Formats: sequence, structure tokens, C-alpha cells
Amino acid sequence: MNPQTKHVCVIGAGIVGLSTAWRLMQDGWQVSVIEESAAPGLVTSYANGAQLSYSYVAPLAEPSALTSLPKWLLKKDGPLRIHPSLSPDFVRWSLSFASHCTTAKAHQTTRDLLGLGYLSRRVLRAWLADAPASWTTAAGLDYRTNGKLVVFRDQAALMSAGAQVAYQHSLNVGCEQYVLSAAECVAKEPALAAMQSKLAGGIYTPSEDVVDSHGLCMYLERLIVSRGGELRYDTRITGAVQEGRRCVALKLKSQSTVLEETDAASDVEEFKADYFVVAAGLSSRELLKKFDTRAPLLGLKGFSITLDCEHGIAPSVSITDSHHKIVFAKLGHRLRVAGMVDLGRENRDIDPSRIAALIKQARDNFPDAGDYAKVQTWAGLRPATPSGRPIIDQTACENVYANIGHGTLGLTLAAGSAELLADKLAGRTSSLPLEPFTFKAA
Ligand SMILES: Cc1cc2nc3c(=O)[nH]c(=O)nc-3n(C[C@H](O)[C@H](O)[C@H](O)COP(=O)(O)OP(=O)(O)OC[C@H]3O[C@@H](n4cnc5c(N)ncnc54)[C@H](O)[C@@H]3O)c2cc1C
Repeated sequence: MNPQTKHVCVIGAGIVGLSTAWRLMQDGWQVSVIEESAAPGLVTSYANGAQLSYSYVAPLAEPSALTSLPKWLLKKDGPLRIHPSLSPDFVRWSLSFASHCTTAKAHQTTRDLLGLGYLSRRVLRAWLADAPASWTTAAGLDYRTNGKLVVFRDQAALMSAGAQVAYQHSLNVGCEQYVLSAAECVAKEPALAAMQSKLAGGIYTPSEDVVDSHGLCMYLERLIVSRGGELRYDTRITGAVQEGRRCVALKLKSQSTVLEETDAASDVEEFKADYFVVAAGLSSRELLKKFDTRAPLLGLKGFSITLDCEHGIAPSVSITDSHHKIVFAKLGHRLRVAGMVDLGRENRDIDPSRIAALIKQARDNFPDAGDYAKVQTWAGLRPATPSGRPIIDQTACENVYANIGHGTLGLTLAAGSAELLADKLAGRTSSLPLEPFTFKAA
């Protein structure tokens, strides 16, 4: 190794941490990744909706979010559920979220995220362009450009989505989207036939992709290892050693000693690096406190089911049922169905009533997709900022950076966020303005 090479330590081996690590390696950094789980991508990046949803980035914080609030508070089985809490994190986040619910701010966030989405598409496609088939198969990537069709059950919702399409088109950033009638939706995706009578129409975007998120994490891990990067699993960060405004080392503990709750000094290792990047998903909120930095994150809980659809009638195009706010993605012989947002429930328990609702809605839409009695279930916490934009920024510690807060779009935005973080560390001018992705703008 070149003695001039600087060493950067990335905390978290989810999709954001691994993308960051790989992009930094491409710039010639010596990279170590520290992860508390036993393998990559086992937390929020595991069984998410699998959508690389580059053109559907409009934030949750928009004017109708406030007018719909009473409905969400009262409806206990809707796609969005709020469990109000008096915790300072919840209160602060909610007030800030409300302040972002204006048309002007929602438009600005959409513009920022479209830029980041299209950057991500360019970067990820380059990473996958020369992927050896044996690697992608081993990782279970199931990556393809299959297009995305968002379907609507009432005319008013379709018209409002049509207005968003017109707005995005007016930005001249290359959004190719079409408004389709119900019959055109079924012609595009014949598996929708059972739903046709319920449909008002849909929005079709041909350029959207799908990929298995856990598979992509495993693929990135392989790339990192193949270039000599270091990955340390079962290792938890318990503290940091600082000198002035710099972090000189992290305090690490192997998970076995964490579980045994031993506090012996010999169990704690000091791990030195020149720079550190926190990409620890929702846990970044706690972790960043060690670096005197407050991260405005809340966990938006969601669920997924995965079923075998090899012999069933499942959609090949990605489908979003906007009425139930659930997404369907075909990954090889598997159908992934994901959705729901539970606010104020920051645990990863798999709630049987939410899974039952997901199964019912999936079966209503695609009755013959597969055996709904044999589904794999999952729950995750989307690490969300109030604005809906991720934070790609320096912390109060000058050699510690954050790449966090990707909310509902972490799989989609990870590659572009890694690119912006790499620009920041290299002191390069980025292809996008960085100000929207700062702590201040979150
Ligand atoms: C139901 C659902 C559906 C979704 N669908 C989509 C979709 O279709 N498209 C899309 O783009 N996004 C989707 N998302 C969002 C996406 O999954 C997340 O934004 C993304 O996974 C966040 O990645 P991350 O790397 O920031 O966090 P994580 O994947 O949670 O990774 C953080 C890692 O840091 C590790 N860590 C935490 N603390 C420490 C510590 N102290 N020491 C060491 N390691 C630590 C964790 O173990 C974890 O592995 C969905 C999310 C959910 C819940």
C-alpha cells in the first residue's frame, strides 16, 4: 500500500455504508467497514421494496400530509399509522416535518431528489455494467430495468399524480413518464387484469429498475473485498476518542463481549483512521451524539412479504398500488410486496395484523401470484429526515462525516449519495449542489 494513502473507516454495512465504502475505494482510499451484525445488509437494507425508484422521489412532507393527518390518526388499519409520542426526538421531528409541508418546499425537495436519483442511476449502472454473471447470481441480485407503473383507483388521485408528472417534466431533467388509462395499464402489465374494473388509470415510467437490496449489499461486499477493503462484522462502536475537534479512534467491542456485558478494558479495542463516515441507518442518531452532532432522524416502520411466484401470475413491471401505498417487485422467481408507514413505533417487531393486511391487499390485487400461506415476513425502520432529503455532510467533528437519513429511498439514492460523499472527502466540486444535503437543510 502507498504510505500516502489515507485510511477511512465507514460505520455500517447497510446499502449506504457499503456504497460509500466502494466509491471511496474507487478513489484510492484505504477503507475499513465496521458492522455490528454478522453479515452485510441484515437491517433496513434486507427485504425492502426493491424499487430503484429514480423518478418517484416526491417527499412525504407536502401540503396534503397535513390535511390527511386527522384521518391517519383515527384510522388504525390504514397504510399510514401514527402513534403520537412525547419523546423529544418525535416532537422535534414532527414539528420540523410540518414546517416542510408547503408546495414550494415539496417542489424544491423533489428537484433535489430527482438530481440525486438520476446521479444514483448513472453510478449504480456503471457499478453493475461489468459485473461477472457468477457474482450477480451468487449474490441473488435479480437486477433489471422493468419499468414502474403506479396505479390509481380514483380520478382525483390520478389527476393529482398527472400534475406531478407535468411538474417533473417541466424541470427538463429527463423524466420520461406517461399517463395511461385503465385498459392501457392492463395492456402494459397483463397481471393487472383482475384489478382492471377498480382502476382509474396509472403513471408509467419505463426507465425504473429493480434489485434485491440484500443481494446488492452482498455484491458490494464482494467488490470491496476483491480490492483489499476490510470488513469487520460482529463489532460494535461503543465510544470515540477525540482530540479537540478531531476523532482519533473509535472504541470497538466484539458483539460477543457486548452480549456478555463485560466492561473489562481489555475487551475494548481502539481503532484508528484518518477519517470516519457514519452510515449506521437509524442508529446514527445515537452514534452521532458521540461526535456532538444531533441527527434529526425518525424510524418510519414498514413491512414486507416475499413469496415464490415461479408458477403464478405475478406482475413483471413494478407496480405501486397508490390506494394502499404498497409496491410489488418481481425478483427472479420471487414477488416482494412492501409498504406501510408506522410512525412512533421504533422497533423491528413483525406485527401480525400489519402482515395480515399486506397479504390481504396483495392477494386482492394479484390473487394467483403464488401461495400466500407461505410468505417470508420482514419489518424495517426507514431512517427518515423531516424534509425527506438525506444528510451527506461533515459533523461537528471535522474528520467525521455522515451519510444518513435516506428514509423511503435508501436503495434508490445510495449510489449517488456515495458519489457526493466521495466528492466531499476529496474536496472536489460535485455535479450537484451539496447544500440541500446538509444537517441544516434536513
Ligand atoms: C418496508 C420498506 C420498504 C422499502 N422499500 C424501498 C424501496 O423499494 N426502494 C428504496 O430505495 N428504499 C426502500 N426502503 C428504504 C431503504 O430500505 C432504506 O432507506 C435503506 O435500507 C437504509 O440503508 P442504510 O444503509 O442507511 O441503513 P441500514 O440498512 O439499517 O444499515 C445500517 C447498518 O449500520 C449498522 N450499525 C448500526 N449501529 C452500529 C454501530 N453502533 N456499530 C456498528 N454498526 C452499526 C447496522 O447493523 C446496519 O447494518 C424501504 C424500507 C422499508 C422499511
